[in-house]
Amino acid sequence: MKVFKFGGAALKDAKGVAQVATIILSQPPNNLLVVVSAMGKTTDMLERILAMSEMGGAVSQALHALEKYHLEIVNELFTDQSKIRQEVEMIFAEIKTGLTNEMNTDKLYDQIVSKGELISSVILHHYLVSKKASSSWIDARSYINTDKSFREAKVDWVKTSGNILTLKGFLEKGIVITQGFIGKTEDGLTTTLGREGSDFSAAIFGSCLQAESVTIWKDVAGVMNADPKRFPNAVVFDELPFREAAEMTYYGASVIHPKTIKPLATKGIKLLVKNFDNPSLPGTLIHECTVDKLPPLIVFKENQCLISCKATDYAFISEQQLSVIFDALLAISVSINVMQNSAISFSFCIDFNESKVANLIERLQRDFEVNYNTGLTLITVKNYDLAHSVEYRKMPGVLLEQSSRSTLQVLVKGN
Ligand code: ASP
Ligand code: MG
Repeated sequence: MKVFKFGGAALKDAKGVAQVATIILSQPPNNLLVVVSAMGKTTDMLERILAMSEMGGAVSQALHALEKYHLEIVNELFTDQSKIRQEVEMIFAEIKTGLTNEMNTDKLYDQIVSKGELISSVILHHYLVSKKASSSWIDARSYINTDKSFREAKVDWVKTSGNILTLKGFLEKGIVITQGFIGKTEDGLTTTLGREGSDFSAAIFGSCLQAESVTIWKDVAGVMNADPKRFPNAVVFDELPFREAAEMTYYGASVIHPKTIKPLATKGIKLLVKNFDNPSLPGTLIHECTVDKLPPLIVFKENQCLISCKATDYAFISEQQLSVIFDALLAISVSINVMQNSAISFSFCIDFNESKVANLIERLQRDFEVNYNTGLTLITVKNYDLAHSVEYRKMPGVLLEQSSRSTLQVLVKGN
């Protein structure tokens, strides 16, 4: 059996849904599980609606616009619309009442923002049925069990794999359509797995079902060695070892969610990245392999923040002080993208998140003199050569640089 994942860009309009259905219908009529994200920018819109509502603002106009966007897609796709319209309208009614719930922000976020995937999966499922496919819609929350870390829930693998294995019967009979990004706690509350988490959901289903492969359908030709918007000469990798792909996601390549590789690599399940506009292109195959010489891989990670801590009494930075810094990072779940120390200071670069950075600085100022810069870009060049080394080290506004034999990193001003 195979797993396919389609993101918001593939499902952003009626034409996209029809194209996704064409890809699905070109496959054998069973043993395919399809994971979908919310349509277009729905997740961003739901986030905005929730933020407006929490600030006491009026949301009915924004909510109405989002409902209209989905109903127009329904209108274009279906001749007989009554059932599907009703289902979509019901989910929007749930969002409206959900917004009045008195819950902690993160918990409420998951109850509301998760609805985007429910809507898109319902629309795709009904569309496939209208095309005579034997499609079953399943609620991913009944299969993916998580803890209560709302907005970045951790998967309970034992329970989840037990649940997912029960899908085998359904899959033998036809295609299964489900949602990415969402799960459920022990007490039945919806959770989400972190933004862009649908790739990870596809990996969860693929790994528990011991799928033959997981395919992520994207708006690019495959995994590329650089962002084609910045580098028009970027090339598509034909194949990549799991480890190389995992490192790329760590450095900020956004083509695959960072958590996707591990569950597949540990079970030796192939991961394909393919173009949904042009399914005949080979795309990139990520699997256990050795590739002789990979071209340089260039990743720009924007919106970075550099924090430097100095001991207030001119002392050297000690292990004990480093542990204070790491404890503070751990306490607010922030991870370091690059770090460097000198005799009297320790500097590190993290993703800029306003509230987390403010919280972190407040904690660090208890023990250190803290300086920070925001609006930075971390450039990583893996498999770099001399020309890259000269080019990037000489860039204007370099605040920090670091290199190993294979990887060069520079942190520069500007986004
Ligand atoms: N819809 C969610 C998001 O936009 C999950 C995903 O797209 O993977 O973050
Ligand atoms: Mg998405």
